[in-house]
Amino acid sequence: MEIYWLFVFFLFGITFGSFYNVVGLRVPKNIPFVNDHSHCPNCNHRLRWHELVPVASFIWQKGTCRNCDARISPLYPSMELLTGLLFAYSYFIFGFQLELITAILFISLLVIISVADIAYMLIPNKFLLFFLPLLIIMRIISPLNPWYDMIIGAFLGLGLIALIIIVSKGGMGAGDMKLFFVLGIVLGWKQVLLTFFLASLIGTIFGIFLKSLRKLKRRQPIPFGPSIAIAAVISHFHGETLLELYLSLF
Ligand SMILES: [Zn+2]
Repeated sequence: MEIYWLFVFFLFGITFGSFYNVVGLRVPKNIPFVNDHSHCPNCNHRLRWHELVPVASFIWQKGTCRNCDARISPLYPSMELLTGLLFAYSYFIFGFQLELITAILFISLLVIISVADIAYMLIPNKFLLFFLPLLIIMRIISPLNPWYDMIIGAFLGLGLIALIIIVSKGGMGAGDMKLFFVLGIVLGWKQVLLTFFLASLIGTIFGIFLKSLRKLKRRQPIPFGPSIAIAAVISHFHGETLLELYLSLF
């Protein structure tokens, strides 16, 4: 049965991931997404259902539009696949517990924010404001231990990034600061610190990697949101183990 549910959550994930791509790309530009059909951004060809199957369409169309042969960004299938894997992994880790709902909401927020940050270099308030009350409710019915860790975590996350904004004069933005407030609610104070540490590490590796590919111009900023998102998901799933491992080194 476990395999069956893993597969169900994976399918859920790639379907929602497909929707999150649309949300992350359209909402920051105020493009309606509910009643609007999907079009090829190059030739405006209206996409049919078989061109909208998550991941699979991209593969059998070899990453191009069927009408005009324009390349489709690999961002779409990557995000769909990632959301599918993360939903399945959430079920694998938490099973049918309340924390599974928290994980699904948390991953949804982080995927949408990553899409928006990669596309536009911004973390829109709308997304944070939509998920904030949902995540607070989840932290009330499925609390951290102790319960007020959500409050300490939120303000520690906010304060830490505020400090970095002041010290680095623009190394991070207000969007990152608000995001860390939300992360703190879900993760608590220890794991929000772990997230910050891991995000810096991932961001640095990512930066070196992109520079080595010579894809970046000098001083071109790199969106930090995806690194934060990866770090936050790792902290939510395995933060306790990682912190124990770290403390056992001393
Ligand atoms: Zn096209």
